[in-house]
Amino acid sequence: MTMHGWAKQALAGARPTVFWSERADAPAAAPELSGDITAELVVVGAGLTGLWTAVQALEEHPGLSVVILEAERCGFGASSRNGGFCDGSLTHGLANGMSHWPDEIRDLVRMGRENLDGIEESLGRYRIDADFRRAPEVGVATQEWHLDSLKGALEHHLSVGDDVELLDSAMMQARVHSPSYLGGLIRYNDIALVDPARLCWGLRTAAESLGAQLFENSPATSVGSESSSLSVATPNGRVIAERVVNATNAYAGPVKQTRRYMIPVYDHVLMTEPLDQMQLTSVGWEEGEGIGDASNQFHYYRMTEDGRILWGGYDATYHFGSDLDPRHDQSEDTHGKLAQHFFETFPQLEGLRFTHRWGGPVATTTHFAPAWGTSQSGRLVWVGGYTGLGVGSSRFGARVALDLVFGRTTERTELKMVSKKPFPFPPEPVRWAGVQMTRKAIQRSDDHEGRRGLWLSLLDKFGVGFDS
Ligand SMILES: Cc1cc2nc3c(=O)[nH]c(=O)nc-3n(C[C@H](O)[C@H](O)[C@H](O)COP(=O)(O)OP(=O)(O)OC[C@H]3O[C@@H](n4cnc5c(N)ncnc54)[C@H](O)[C@@H]3O)c2cc1C
Repeated sequence: MTMHGWAKQALAGARPTVFWSERADAPAAAPELSGDITAELVVVGAGLTGLWTAVQALEEHPGLSVVILEAERCGFGASSRNGGFCDGSLTHGLANGMSHWPDEIRDLVRMGRENLDGIEESLGRYRIDADFRRAPEVGVATQEWHLDSLKGALEHHLSVGDDVELLDSAMMQARVHSPSYLGGLIRYNDIALVDPARLCWGLRTAAESLGAQLFENSPATSVGSESSSLSVATPNGRVIAERVVNATNAYAGPVKQTRRYMIPVYDHVLMTEPLDQMQLTSVGWEEGEGIGDASNQFHYYRMTEDGRILWGGYDATYHFGSDLDPRHDQSEDTHGKLAQHFFETFPQLEGLRFTHRWGGPVATTTHFAPAWGTSQSGRLVWVGGYTGLGVGSSRFGARVALDLVFGRTTERTELKMVSKKPFPFPPEPVRWAGVQMTRKAIQRSDDHEGRRGLWLSLLDKFGVGFDS
């Protein structure tokens, strides 16, 4: 059978559901909001940003009345659908941070390390069992030109004190066996892997144990002012609140301003069945490193606690009008390509099946890192736009949102990354045309040894772009 045939067969029985959240011990639904209540702080959205906002607010202000409104179920969005790479980077990677905020990159790296330590510490404090484990991350070269870009990345990492090492082909193959590997760059520090749904559920329990009230299936439809307070409306009730943090990320949510700065981009994932002992031996991978390849359109992959491989990335799809629809979670084209690329990387796993296939929206900004904004005289703060690296940085996003909503000037709020918003996306149809042009240029760049070409060079000059 051809590679294409194996891939098709392997995908045939995959369920169109998210592996992480399809669990028998998933928590019961919280109630819907019904009637009018009051709160000192309302958090809109119960993904990682919203949950960290509630937890950190209650740690800072014990006894504060905090209400969380979630349109669906806790963790419904990107937060329980992701690859579980929990990176210390706050800037969607070091290279992006260095190019946008060269003057503050050392502070951003330090704050990112503190943030990751804070996540680990909180998981211990609240006894959250989310299979959080520090593991190295490897950027693999699968084409000659990747080797040069990894050498450049090595210099960047060394300059901020990262513990990194270049791996030649033999060293790379000794770790993980794939005929496509030519070398790699391994980073030993500031990266962990986590089970994302268990992280969301654990944070939900932590927030509730500190006194937060969660309402699920309760979408916020508007935020208005009511005398000296804010009023957050849902279909069957309202919360009258002093302050609001909007954490709906890729979803439009009730705050229109966010739609200028963030657009939803779909990322797709496959999960295999557990590997048997022979299959595990055939790939090596004994240290359980997180892996990503060095193309612009990259794959990311990792092992799970029960010996499966999660395999995602490559395409990043944008739908006209920033459309969000559960239909976009499944893509014959992208899932098909992902399956084929999987067997090109690990041909020795012929016969292995995929059990789950899914997708979800990340929110990207033109500088690929989060953005914050305020309205209603600073009593309403929004945050989002982590692009594909929000598992760790969402806690920092929440921390800054709390600084802003409580009117504090801190080292964090003084950062240019925080105080200066990214360049806004243009309205449709220019938005769609710009994204498609950029996607094609990224594909061309990968096909031509990473050369940026005219369009990407122009975007680089203005410090803007499109990524996932
Ligand atoms: C397939 C995929 C793979 C990824 N892999 C990684 C990875 O390995 N590592 C990494 O760091 N990042 C990864 N990411 C990105 C990461 O998951 C996100 O950046 C992060 O989860 C964002 O969290 P959030 O809480 O801001 O947003 P979300 O998790 O999207 O949460 C927003 C919440 O708001 C709710 N909501 C929407 N509208 C309303 C409303 N009107 N009222 C109330 N609630 C509302 C939604 O239902 C949702 O629960 C990935 C994302 C995807 C989709």
